[in-house]
Amino acid sequence: MSELHDECGVFGIFKNEPDIDIVEETYLALYALQHRGQTGAGIAVNDNGNMRYYKDFGMIPEALPEPELSRLGNGQIALGHVKYSSGDEVDPANLAPLVMRYIKGQLALCMNGAITNYHELREELNHGAAIFQSNGDTEIIAYLVARARIKAPTIEEAVREAVNQLKGAYAAVLMSPSKLIGVRDPMGIRPLCYGKIGSSYVIASESCVFDSLGGEFIRDIQPGEILVIDSDGVHSYTENCGEKTALCLFEYVYFSRPDSVVDGVSVVKARQRAGKLLAQQHPIDADIVCAVPDCGIESAIGYSMESGIRYATGLIKNKYIGRAFNDRKKNEEYLMRIKLNALTYNIEGQRVIVIDDSILKGKTSRHIVELLRQAGAKEVHMLIASPPFRNPCYLNSDTNTKEKLIASQKSIEEICEYIGADSLGFLSAESLKEIAKECHIGFCDACFTGEYPLDVSDTSREDKYSQKIKQSGISE
Ligand code: SF4
Repeated sequence: MSELHDECGVFGIFKNEPDIDIVEETYLALYALQHRGQTGAGIAVNDNGNMRYYKDFGMIPEALPEPELSRLGNGQIALGHVKYSSGDEVDPANLAPLVMRYIKGQLALCMNGAITNYHELREELNHGAAIFQSNGDTEIIAYLVARARIKAPTIEEAVREAVNQLKGAYAAVLMSPSKLIGVRDPMGIRPLCYGKIGSSYVIASESCVFDSLGGEFIRDIQPGEILVIDSDGVHSYTENCGEKTALCLFEYVYFSRPDSVVDGVSVVKARQRAGKLLAQQHPIDADIVCAVPDCGIESAIGYSMESGIRYATGLIKNKYIGRAFNDRKKNEEYLMRIKLNALTYNIEGQRVIVIDDSILKGKTSRHIVELLRQAGAKEVHMLIASPPFRNPCYLNSDTNTKEKLIASQKSIEEICEYIGADSLGFLSAESLKEIAKECHIGFCDACFTGEYPLDVSDTSREDKYSQKIKQSGISE
């Protein structure tokens, strides 16, 4: 149960069959992507260039109630988005899809990721008299596309021109009056793939969506590729594809669903491999191995397979906690208590190995060790299926300051003492890439190694979110 928050999830569909209800398909797709963001959700539908949308805060059922969905009607193209945002971004204007009107009609857009030259671009657009509704990255991309489209002969040309100005990590889906477009950043830091439901095409953050919809996965969108779907079929533009690629390794550790395949590697396989490597690197004499749900489960199974130590359920996660509850109960410790319970029947009198995906601040780990001890564990050994998370991620997650990361402030022994475990071990940084060795592209592992795949030297990155707030406020 990582303290690292999820990313956003994007979805788009181009309907080629009259029977498909694209609002319903988009709604179901967002359910499959719910793990990537629980702050808000939205759907936009394109009916012959007339776009209708609905978006709100909360998890899918509360954000997208049936009466609002039925008002969206039907159409040929639709976009869907689930959003995670840090606490300082709770402005409804930041919900997606963003739907705007410009010189060529309407345009809708949603994305997963972070634009690292956000301030520079926003400054430039501000000086061109741009009027912003939000302080999000999505609106920057929308402006760049709209501006480029004034001269560009086609929407795909405009998108290409716009993304040439972007730096950072992004997987975006756009909808013009007649086209569905998927774009992945040149390094492929954020995942994006496409598939088919019957003869209709779909683009999504993760392949688990195609299984949920009874469709088929076709392939990952390449880093830098612009994929355009229209009534003539699928068109791929690869002029922006770069040499250096850097998929976020944390997709395998935590972000993606275990039933997804990301850039050629099954997430469940990667997590089980991490568990097997942990068993080789940290052999422990124990009675049971259990997991911190959900992301530690497959690694714990891998540890059990490699070590022969019995896998048992040690912790139960309450899956029914929505945003409304989180808003009401701000006390972190209280929340953790409600979210996780130890299974005394399995734990009492046992020497327990407990496996989690990562440690960020350390508070959750401390709580978990305490829970297991209260349930009667004789020993608690915590293992982490990734290396120490020492460096901020500027490429999406909300860990944008080093001071919040316990591994950047304390040694492993000190962390072990802080969380109160009998021992603590991490997967080695050298072996991390082994978990997804068949991946088609290179990796970003900067949060573990400090080696960022792109320039993050702009000091304002440390304070990106507070600067966004300032930029969106009244300054005179
Ligand atoms: S720094 Fe870490 S979490 Fe961020 S993109 Fe790179 S691997 Fe992913």
